[in-house]
Amino acid sequence: MLTTINGGCIVDAVSQISSGDNPLIAVSVMKKNYTNELLKTNDKFAISILSKDVNPEIIKTFGFNSSRDINKFENIEITKVEDMNIINDSLGYMVCEIVDSIDNDTHTLFIGKVIEADLFNDKEAMSYNYYQEHKEELLKVTTEKGKTAWVCIACGYVYYGDELPDDFKCPVCGVGKEYFKKQK
Ligand code: FE
Repeated sequence: MLTTINGGCIVDAVSQISSGDNPLIAVSVMKKNYTNELLKTNDKFAISILSKDVNPEIIKTFGFNSSRDINKFENIEITKVEDMNIINDSLGYMVCEIVDSIDNDTHTLFIGKVIEADLFNDKEAMSYNYYQEHKEELLKVTTEKGKTAWVCIACGYVYYGDELPDDFKCPVCGVGKEYFKKQK
């Protein structure tokens, strides 16, 4: 999970790209995310590393909402490090100074120099692959009984109606109708 002042989002992966006392890391953020805009006017960001048993509400709050619409930190316990919001329910964090950014079509690759880092516990980190394999149980999507529901398998958004329009796109995460699974 990546946070910056006033915003944050879930990122799929973070890569270490140099070694030494202050290694560099690279993280790719979708341009349509508000967090991407915030990163262009901030000089720092933080990575909170989520564990496999993280409270799923954190994934829902940060992954399926925009900081344009809600204050994502409102009901989440945080600790401030170097003015950055660190998620307490994480296994550790890195605070980085943004040293470069590279424009890549739909995403921007941000390069950060790690200036602070700590581990809170020795839990196992949640990888993107683990999330994909377990998201149904993690997100525990419930639908209203007696109605035909279509559940977005990418984010858990529920659409009610007998059929999905052909050009339907998930209003939350933007995927097309092929990502919706019918439930009764
Ligand atoms: Fe979705």
